[in-house]
Amino acid sequence: MSEICPKCGLPKEICVCSVLDKETENRIKVYTKKAKFQKKMTVVEGIPENELEEVAKALKRILACGGTYKDGVIELQGVHVDLVKKVLVEKLGYNPANIDVV
Ligand SMILES: [Zn+2]
Repeated sequence: MSEICPKCGLPKEICVCSVLDKETENRIKVYTKKAKFQKKMTVVEGIPENELEEVAKALKRILACGGTYKDGVIELQGVHVDLVKKVLVEKLGYNPANIDVV
């Protein structure tokens, strides 16, 4: 007799709840905000802490812009929302379904 998942009621072998939980865990949000002096910046939220430095460096290098990262948030100078998503997916292997461009 196999165990039944309490969440969806399916046997554990075919249940995908834990997979779905994992996928929704790291939702990445990309949006712009106004910085000082009428400038804008692009903010990337939701990158796992252990990947933050690597992702921030890659984005700064590829986009050739300045930026900072701390506490799970990357801030890049300028407006690069679409390009950030493209780089996250094509160069860094993130799942496009987990990236929200706001
Ligand atoms: Zn389940």
